Amino acid sequence: MTLVLFIIFAAILGSFLASFIYRFTNKNILKESYVSKINIFTEPSFCSHCKTKIDWYHLIPVLSYLFLRGKAKCCGATISSRYFLTEILVISSFSLIFITNDSWALILLKSFISLTLIFIALIDYQYKIIPLNSLLILFILALILSATEGLLILPEVFVTIISGFLLLATRWLFFKLKGKEGLGLGDVILFPILTLMIPMTLVPILLLTASLLGIVEFFLSSKLKRDSEIAFGFHLAIASYLGLVNFYPILPLI
Ligand SMILES: [Zn+2]
Repeated sequence: MTLVLFIIFAAILGSFLASFIYRFTNKNILKESYVSKINIFTEPSFCSHCKTKIDWYHLIPVLSYLFLRGKAKCCGATISSRYFLTEILVISSFSLIFITNDSWALILLKSFISLTLIFIALIDYQYKIIPLNSLLILFILALILSATEGLLILPEVFVTIISGFLLLATRWLFFKLKGKEGLGLGDVILFPILTLMIPMTLVPILLLTASLLGIVEFFLSSKLKRDSEIAFGFHLAIASYLGLVNFYPILPLI
């Protein structure tokens, strides 16, 4: 029963996130004229094609998309499967956190961190941008998790600061050697924030996992002849999520 209620909670947040990503990117990145004029937090749901207000019974997460067979009721335009997939992604990620964590405090905290990570990952994947506001929200949530897990101690914070400087140095070196940006400033800020949430022994594993995911994407995308720029923040977010569901073996702290 609790899991069912939690899945409904996840579906509502997933639906909110899907619509928020659409509004946020159209307003701040694509500068679309209609979305630029509205308040993206308070404007009721509207059809992205004809801008008609959507009735509440057509806004039920996951189910409405299936019932309407992916077609808008107002104008018949195809609804992007992105909304549906984002909802499914949030529901699955929340459910996995529910299964792998015991206390409600941890489950809720990690769920909101995962929601922020999904926002960062999806926007970074498509636009190669990590919005600063989302990094600030993630930083606050990471600090709370770090304190809850007893990780807000001097050696751990020291490793976080060092990892930030290491990434900054890597960014600088890449720029000197290649003459172009290889590592975005967003990634340089994102990585230290993520290290706050894990014991320092897992920091190299986090970096290694994200790099391996990046290499896999690089080979897949060069085969598909897409642009070869890698969204490192996207891979960091996935690697960090794996930590939230206790995927990494717990190494003894020496
Ligand atoms: Zn419409």
